[in-house]
Amino acid sequence: MIECCVIIYADQKGKYLFQRNLPADNRRMMSMSYRAWFQCINRECSSRYPLNSIVYRCRTCGSLLEVQHDLQALAESDAKTWIKLFEDRYKSTQWPYGSGVWGKKEWVLPEIDNENIVSLYEGGTNLFWSDRFGKMLGVEDLWIKLCGNSHSGSFKDLGMTVLVSQVKQMISEGAPIKAVVCASTGDTSAALAVYCAAAGIQSAVLLPKGKISVAQLIQPISNGALVLSLDTDFDGCMSIVQEITRDETIYLANSMNSLRIEGQKTVGIEIVQQFDWDVPDVIIIPGGNLGNVSALGGGLLMMRDLGLISRLPRIVVAQAERANPLYRSYLNNFETFEPIQAQKTLASAIQIGNPVSIEKAVRTLKQFNGIVEQATEQELADAAALGDTTGMFNDPHTGVALAVLIKLLGAGKIDKSERVVVISTAHGLKFTDFKVRYHEEKLDFPSHFVNKPIELPPRVDAVKEALRQALQKRRKPMSKKSSKNRDWKAATLAIHGLGRTSKAHYSVSTPIVQTSNYYFDSTAEVLEFMKSKSKGRVVREHEYGRYGNPTQQECERKLAAIEGAERALLFSSGMSAVIMTLMAYMRRNGHIIFTNDCYRQTRDFATSLLSEFGIEVSLVDPDAGAIAGAIRSNTNIIFTESPTNPYLRVLDIPAVVKVARKHGVLTMIDATLATPYNIRPLEMGVDIVIHSATKYLGGHNDLLAGVTLGKHELLNDLNRIQRMIGATPGPFTCFLLERGLKTFALRMEHHNRAGLAVALMLEAHPKIEKIWYPGLESHPDHRIASGQMRGSGSVITFLVRGGDRETRKFIDSLELFLITPSLGGTESLVTQMATMSFFDYPEEYRKSIGMVDNLVRIALGLEDVNDLMADLKQALDKI
Ligand code: PLP
Repeated sequence: MIECCVIIYADQKGKYLFQRNLPADNRRMMSMSYRAWFQCINRECSSRYPLNSIVYRCRTCGSLLEVQHDLQALAESDAKTWIKLFEDRYKSTQWPYGSGVWGKKEWVLPEIDNENIVSLYEGGTNLFWSDRFGKMLGVEDLWIKLCGNSHSGSFKDLGMTVLVSQVKQMISEGAPIKAVVCASTGDTSAALAVYCAAAGIQSAVLLPKGKISVAQLIQPISNGALVLSLDTDFDGCMSIVQEITRDETIYLANSMNSLRIEGQKTVGIEIVQQFDWDVPDVIIIPGGNLGNVSALGGGLLMMRDLGLISRLPRIVVAQAERANPLYRSYLNNFETFEPIQAQKTLASAIQIGNPVSIEKAVRTLKQFNGIVEQATEQELADAAALGDTTGMFNDPHTGVALAVLIKLLGAGKIDKSERVVVISTAHGLKFTDFKVRYHEEKLDFPSHFVNKPIELPPRVDAVKEALRQALQKRRKPMSKKSSKNRDWKAATLAIHGLGRTSKAHYSVSTPIVQTSNYYFDSTAEVLEFMKSKSKGRVVREHEYGRYGNPTQQECERKLAAIEGAERALLFSSGMSAVIMTLMAYMRRNGHIIFTNDCYRQTRDFATSLLSEFGIEVSLVDPDAGAIAGAIRSNTNIIFTESPTNPYLRVLDIPAVVKVARKHGVLTMIDATLATPYNIRPLEMGVDIVIHSATKYLGGHNDLLAGVTLGKHELLNDLNRIQRMIGATPGPFTCFLLERGLKTFALRMEHHNRAGLAVALMLEAHPKIEKIWYPGLESHPDHRIASGQMRGSGSVITFLVRGGDRETRKFIDSLELFLITPSLGGTESLVTQMATMSFFDYPEEYRKSIGMVDNLVRIALGLEDVNDLMADLKQALDKI
């Protein structure tokens, strides 16, 4: 049975307001004598002062003071009892305990008489689950603590109720205080004015002229404060206030007066209480003068010390980049602290360069494994506006905290699975001028989430049309779905990449963005773009056609997905990919190893141009041993093909990679003839893969393109050269290539099957002298190919029995095969190597590299394989 009694409370005017039944435990705790005092934060000094003394800094050593409680007395009640007491009082009608601050009176200001308490039912503010914004960022458990939903519209009410109540008590005890004064960036002044007005005490506020919002200025004016607008910044006002409060009749209300901190510390307790006494993982709080940091920490530490919680959250302080002294200090592990001249920031309440509470804040951050991060003006404004679109109404300081959250999630410093609370310190309605300027695009940078009112004639059709357009826009224009499903097969990846990207007008196929350049809306947007680019950030992707276009980008995305590469760079031909990649990584006086069987133009580049650039070149047999033997001290690249063109030699790639790694040499493979369907060089440790996309990737004999793939970082050098030289494919080519990719896997399956069937047929044919096809057991690299290739494709090289005459007769008799170089397309092609690709070489040299007259290369297309075999047979029969 709970023992009860009836307590009758009186308000300050003597009217009986509330009657409540209080459990006996509560009565006992309320009658206990708890004590608190000011204590110097300097451990070596630790001087103490009673709470009714007029003192802001230690009279012995000059350090800041903090309120200390008799924890032993508080610990006489166990955690459960405190929790029960706090629960019973929370938002109840018991004067003054229904207040979020005074509900914790014993932990805040235990000795004050209730009749001196000046309370406006502060605290108990909304902590809401930010479901949509959280989902946008990938954080399931994101919460916003709306401290601005308080009487004066800011977090400061929590501290000011305590300070003004203590002043009232001191005056009642005969203290000579005539006025309470503060320097402010707008919120402290509003809170001071309103609490003093409620208590009937004169307040005076010193404000930096023109640096606070209109709403914040009108608050103390309305509440009868003496409003002094000084032509300086907050730090200037603060130093004057410290000077004038040397006079004991003028009491200081800034947060260096630790009475304020005592009230503000209830925010941490309240957050934990709102999670049913569970501790969140991270709490983010905007920081200016920094009193709130130690306040937040103070409440949480007290809970831990009295056993209400067993762990502490991480505290993150969010600063504006233009007023970031704490962030700078954080960067050097708080070893030094330099006050700065704060620059003008939209987050005007934290535009502070010399925070008074720095020492306490640093101490708190160290105890709470703290992080400090900063946000630019653009970042804070966009984050605030983006939050608003999910149902918040953010002030710019909450914008700073949200922007910092986004950055820390991006940097992996906050994990997406953590429970995160963002403290919103003030109500957005105090900053309507900031919000209006954002949506009118009158800030110094582009507003990315602008929402402008639309002026319309008063007509039903006009309204209906506006609604239709708005609803159209809501259909997620930026929808992007990326998949972590790395198990998708080539056929799926070739169609979707790793997930969906946004496309104009919701078109299924990628639009051909036929433009050479991309415009900016304003010079401010140009400036923002340039600044962010110089910091390595992407605010928009396209600028000028030589640097890339959206159709190309979509193609690169899919090619990278098919290859399993971090990044793909497209070029206007296979050869431009080969040459630019070599140019990007070759070194003055370096040495590059090539295989002697390789595409003819690659060989020419190696043997003529590269030597003219002073690069040494070795052409060696396509075999790991030969490559190892060619390594010199200045070798920095091994460039190979696999299979090679035209003899289809297959390299033991892991063995080559081993050699390269041993000597710190970069490996590049032109895998055009294999394609990512048949070979996976990156998975075997190769650094860079190149394809002529003209061939199997495009697949229709109707385009020229090349692609280089590899790690993101590694390709930066190549990307720089590509942007300069500009051998980028045009948008239409990219459209064709992407279209070709959609059937890539299907085509490769056919090519592999057809290739083997035709190779087997030719091998058995009496008119064929010799044949090279890695899928045949007779091929010198068949064993390597079977271990490393899924199929051998549809290029087959062979010697026709006879000489030039017989070979030409055979070729001229073919009906389905077109006489032309290239491979990998829908049409079957045939080449007499000596006349087509190597004709301009002197005959002797040509023969020495195997380009004899009866050497033929065929590349099967997608025709019916039986028709192709019949055609080959009838042509062979003619010789
Ligand atoms: N690499 C190889 C192995 C090739 O076979 C070719 C062309 O046949 C190329 C590169 C050059 O490609 P492109 O003609 O697209 O410049």
